Amino acid sequence: MAFEPLRPGAVIGILGGGQLGRMLALAAPRLGFRCHIYAPPGDNPAFDVSCAHTAAAYEDEAALARFASGVSVVTYEFENVPSATCAALERLVTVAPGREALRVAQDRLEEKTFLSRLGVPVAPFTSVAGVQDIEEAASRIGLPAVLKTRRFGYDGKGQAKIVSRSGCAEAWSAIGKAPAVLEAFVPFDAELSVIAARGRDGSFVPFDIPENWHENHILRQSRVPARVAPETVGWAGDIARGIADGLGYVGVLAVELFLLRRSGREELLVNEIAPRVHNSGHWTLDACHVSQFEQHIRAIAGWPLGDPSRHSDSIMQNLLGLEVDDWERLAKEPQTAVHIYGKAEARPGRKMGHFTRLHPLGAIAGKGK
Ligand code: AMP
Repeated sequence: MAFEPLRPGAVIGILGGGQLGRMLALAAPRLGFRCHIYAPPGDNPAFDVSCAHTAAAYEDEAALARFASGVSVVTYEFENVPSATCAALERLVTVAPGREALRVAQDRLEEKTFLSRLGVPVAPFTSVAGVQDIEEAASRIGLPAVLKTRRFGYDGKGQAKIVSRSGCAEAWSAIGKAPAVLEAFVPFDAELSVIAARGRDGSFVPFDIPENWHENHILRQSRVPARVAPETVGWAGDIARGIADGLGYVGVLAVELFLLRRSGREELLVNEIAPRVHNSGHWTLDACHVSQFEQHIRAIAGWPLGDPSRHSDSIMQNLLGLEVDDWERLAKEPQTAVHIYGKAEARPGRKMGHFTRLHPLGAIAGKGK
């Protein structure tokens, strides 16, 4: 079905009311769009910045139908949208990125199988569903290894590292005995991500590649540019393009990568993909001509993709839990952009905001954390 570019004034539906939905809803009005957020009742900071919202369960078909009737396209800010919700909406309205991207990204086994078929390098992995499976897989893949639930894992949740054969049963219990994959532990030198958009016409536009630092499995900092060889940047972009093309993707996609340095050569392995805007792309708000959020809106609206080039080097840092109370000190810093998500409760580790320090182009090359 041909998709006419949306005209300013159209309403964009967004599933999910968190910070990503909020930043999408802040970007869309710049292009003349209005946003309607759909999320279950709760702390939904995206509601505060949108023209309309529906607080209802993702299983509420009547509410979904009402929502669909008032929007021109639907997108989502998180990958665990139930497939029945997506299917119900797709019968009524265009959903982008579509169901195929969700199917692949919601299940680590499907994801790694899809990536391997595309010829994308990933760590050795195998499907497991019990202690004996894990023990057998561990002898094939080797230890240390990481056990990850197939579904609903994020920020290190649903993951357990196994260092010795005797640890298999404990890891299986730690992940709640859910269907899982066992993958080789990657002794990476750095973590990178590609944030890129694919338009309705198949055009592909990547942002510069950030280097990401995690703490307790949660993103702490993204710095751009990453300290990698230009060929590695090109290779990472090619990997992301292959994935986006393979999914027939429309919107912004994130591909998380491990970087290894072996005898002076850089190698990449894909860790996972996220069919949405991504925390490691937040610096684009302040360091680029067009942010990942605007780019996503452009892509799903059928608009030409924007210029992703950077006018500054940048270091983005998350404000987790009570760190958000630092807003006043940060707001005084020159060349620092502060973003607060407006969440009601600052639980430990919860992403409450972020800040991005801008530096002249070329200024942070070679600098440490
Ligand atoms: P994930 O939920 O798969 O994105 O994992 C969260 C973080 O855990 C990653 O960003 C890495 O820092 C770490 N991690 C995940 N898988 C592996 C692995 N196979 N080897 C080493 N570290 C990993």
